[in-house]
Amino acid sequence: MLCSACLLGIKCNYRGEDNLNTKVLNLLESEILIPVCPEQLGGLPTPRESSEIVGDGYMVLDGRAKVVTVSGKDVTLNFVRGAVETLRIVKIFGISSAIFKQGSPSCGNGKVYDGTFSKRLVSGDGVTTALLKRNGIKVFSEEEI
Ligand code: SF4
Repeated sequence: MLCSACLLGIKCNYRGEDNLNTKVLNLLESEILIPVCPEQLGGLPTPRESSEIVGDGYMVLDGRAKVVTVSGKDVTLNFVRGAVETLRIVKIFGISSAIFKQGSPSCGNGKVYDGTFSKRLVSGDGVTTALLKRNGIKVFSEEEI
């Protein structure tokens, strides 16, 4: 099973911190979890500016929406590259499911921030989640385990 690296305690989020989740960590007793950080795989530094999708992940994949940083920099290509590299890992290992961090513009599953940097969540999937779902991968958030 694939897993957002930050949920396992890897300090890869935009602040250079982790999002350690003990329920996810405890899953290691019964599951092999392969950690990935799509934003790092897309070539973004850590720490980095926070980013939000103006739209949702599917629209980004289709070239109909952008991902921008809080200062207005367009990082759409990094997010798409990170999604493609994550899918490459999925295919190499024959992975069929993922546990991803809720709310992230890459890993969010069902909820993402609305693109205004006002901490408002709306329905939608992150860019990597959208690409994985389009390829038949089941995605769960840490809130679902
Ligand atoms: S891209 Fe995903 S794995 Fe990387 S910090 Fe954000 S939520 Fe965590």
